[in-house]
Amino acid sequence: MFKRILVANRGEIALRVIRACRELGIETVAICSEADRDASYLELADEAICVGPARAADSYLRIDRVISAAEIGNVQAIHPGYGFLSENSHFAEVCRSCDIGFIGPTPEAMAQLGDKNSARTLAMKANVPCVPGSDGLVASEQEALEVARKIGYPVLLKATAGGGGRGMRVASNDLTLQSAFQQAATEAQAAFGNAGIYLEKYVERPRHVEVQIIGDMHGNVVHLWERDCSTQRRHQKLIEESPSPRLAQATREAMCEAAVRLAKTAGYYSTGTVEFIVDQEGNFYFIELNSRIQVEHPVTEMVTGIDLIKAQIRVAAGEPLGFSQDDIVQRGHAIECRINAEDPAHGFRPCPGRIEKMIVPGGFGVRFDSHVSSGYVVPPHYDSLIGKLIVHQPTRREAIETMQRALKELRVEGVKTTVPIHLEILSHSAFHDSQIDTTFVERTLLG
Ligand code: ADP
Ligand code: ADP
Ligand code: MG
Repeated sequence: MFKRILVANRGEIALRVIRACRELGIETVAICSEADRDASYLELADEAICVGPARAADSYLRIDRVISAAEIGNVQAIHPGYGFLSENSHFAEVCRSCDIGFIGPTPEAMAQLGDKNSARTLAMKANVPCVPGSDGLVASEQEALEVARKIGYPVLLKATAGGGGRGMRVASNDLTLQSAFQQAATEAQAAFGNAGIYLEKYVERPRHVEVQIIGDMHGNVVHLWERDCSTQRRHQKLIEESPSPRLAQATREAMCEAAVRLAKTAGYYSTGTVEFIVDQEGNFYFIELNSRIQVEHPVTEMVTGIDLIKAQIRVAAGEPLGFSQDDIVQRGHAIECRINAEDPAHGFRPCPGRIEKMIVPGGFGVRFDSHVSSGYVVPPHYDSLIGKLIVHQPTRREAIETMQRALKELRVEGVKTTVPIHLEILSHSAFHDSQIDTTFVERTLLG
């Protein structure tokens, strides 16, 4: 097992990894930018190294500086968290060539799966159903028109390097497709440094259901069942839950088997998430694989009782999975609300600034993963996530009630947060009946 690891991230996920390491008896070296120097979780690490100015491109994304910190900190491995360098296969390769463990899959698996178009090709090879769309990247407007006419409108233009809900555009006819194509390619080049675009049929009012997987270096891959992340705004998740309500058991099992099949085809180990959309008829289609730990991993931890970060670290050290597929059962119902420093009343615009006062909820069935407390200043440079509120109860009904109680207990003064929109969603009859899809929030609550 590793003796000392570097946590190449910030915020709640850095704290989450540090906590897991402390329980495993592993020392940690944290990195921070100048903007995060005062973050309290740094005190829980054995050492903290500043890697540069506030801008992520000058600090958390600087491979040379992160590797230098790993050398100075004398670590055996790096945990990349999510976002930043976590899905950068070049970074994983640099770690390998410096003889530093990367807590994630191989650079080869990451490269193949990180590109959404090549992941789609691999999924087809593994006999995993994909959304009807283009065979590979679309090189010209003309080609896009041909594919769209074949699969039928509306279609979705997707950046092959996209992520975080960005790099997608809907086109509902030839005219909008023509104007969208060039824009999408130009935007993708600017945002992701890769202009590659592919086409998918735009599935109307789908649910987003994803499967958590984990594999070891000895060829074992298991799934930890699914999460439903249909409550979204602008293709970004707001609420996640497990199990997925209203999913037929046969579909659940078929999706989970498909996810494991894909991972095995890719020679995948470590934690990963295979994302699908499920249409109104209950057909499921692969959309992408995230080769990292995901923001919403705690809902899976609550229902399965497995600490995913510890498991991820153990398999990265070469240990075999300590459990088999039959050991993994879903118990009860878990829900997570993402608490962001944003103003839902004004288009979810980020609300950085000083949190004057914060009171966190607790009690039976409540977990709050957050790096924030009274007096913390939310920097304007990064993702606006300030915490994740997770509840676990025997039934969905009780989980909703506990979440409502906990959201009302949570007090954040000084910045606007997503708490009010969560309360609105949770009190809506469509959410109670689970009659929701990925467009629910925008259709019903945001007008
Ligand atoms: P999850 O699937 O874990 O819910 P999100 O889509 O919310 O992940 O992304 C988690 C974090 O990673 C966010 O900070 C998001 O902005 C960032 N992220 C994910 N993919 C990319 C990408 N391709 N480019 C830049 N940032 C990304
Ligand atoms: P990202 O890498 O940004 O997470 P995804 O491909 O995972 O992108 O898609 C993000 C969200 O966009 C999905 O959860 C879903 O709401 C929507 N989406 C993606 N593909 C489709 C599609 N073909 N039809 C309808 N909605 C889609
Ligand atoms: Mg996704």
